[in-house]
Amino acid sequence: MHKRLFIPGPTEVRKSILEAMATPMIGHRFPEFDELFKSTVEKVQKLLYTKNVIFVSTSSSTGLMEGAMRNCVSKRVLSCVNGAFSKRWAQIAEANGKEVDRLEVEWGKAVKPEMIDEKLKTGKYDAISLVLNETSTGVYAPIAEIAEVMKKYPDVIFMVDAVSCMAGTKIEVDKLGIDVVLAGVQKAFALPPGLAVAAISKKAMEKAKIIKNRGYYFDFLVMKKYYDKWETPATPSISHIYALDKQMSDIFEEGLDNRFKRHLKMAEYTRNWAKERGFTMFSEEGHHSPTVSCINNTKGFKIGDLNAFLAKKGAVISNGYGILKEKTFRIAHMGDTQMSNMEELLYWIDEFLSK
Ligand SMILES: *Cc1c(COP(=O)(O)O)cnc(C)c1O
Repeated sequence: MHKRLFIPGPTEVRKSILEAMATPMIGHRFPEFDELFKSTVEKVQKLLYTKNVIFVSTSSSTGLMEGAMRNCVSKRVLSCVNGAFSKRWAQIAEANGKEVDRLEVEWGKAVKPEMIDEKLKTGKYDAISLVLNETSTGVYAPIAEIAEVMKKYPDVIFMVDAVSCMAGTKIEVDKLGIDVVLAGVQKAFALPPGLAVAAISKKAMEKAKIIKNRGYYFDFLVMKKYYDKWETPATPSISHIYALDKQMSDIFEEGLDNRFKRHLKMAEYTRNWAKERGFTMFSEEGHHSPTVSCINNTKGFKIGDLNAFLAKKGAVISNGYGILKEKTFRIAHMGDTQMSNMEELLYWIDEFLSK
């Protein structure tokens, strides 16, 4: 039996999206492809409230994270670390021979704007990396306040991993002044894994021009050259692009504000459920994620037992990430998951807890 995915990626994919992936194949240098690509890109721009270049990458999100580090850092990057994925940014910087400092806070906490200001004041950095929605801890960064700080440092490239919230929350890229914002489509976009998207500012593109060793697969200048013809340098997953184009249309049909509101409601519902059952949130008050709830397992049940129970109902949630494996459990409420799905899931979890 198929288990409905309440894990923070991949998320549940609707049948009509899977069907869009089965569209008969075309060549990636055909005019039909250029048309499809242009259509998709323009929709993603609308989703992100931006006129920036949109890269569509046949890779997972991590590929574009590496691309950003390679193309946008020449001096030293400040990596804001408050969980597993923000740590990954720093590891990618190191693996690519970049100078990196970690601005680290305890897992479950958010990195605050004034901490970033303190660090950037030193003038040591030409880029900063941030995870908007830390999937390992359920923490959502205070992005508007951080963006305000970033406006004081126009020479610093602002790189944001929005992997597990893009298409689930409002990210006004141009207004916020984000230079690189990226995501994989297997999370709040609710597509099968294998494609990633990013919006890249003019400033980031200019930066790439002065950087040596940008790599080959993720060279922003080459990607831009092809983007200008509505194409990609290498053969993309055309099937994914068909699915993304369809999903974007469906998203606009729902309405962006409705979609973002739905995510907030599901998150609130999940947090209230947790609170009423005597659980506490792992994420800091005021910084809870709208797409994934990370809940302290204060009752100490075995998460494997819960999932074995849920499997019989046809559902699955996630245990904690890494060191938090048994200490927390995570419930994703993102993508095309509806409130009715959440009600059903939490009803089943209640049934498990009452045993
Ligand atoms: C899932 C996730 C990633 C990694 O994405 P891949 O598509 O597996 O490379 C990075 N950052 C965050 C916040 C994530 O949730």
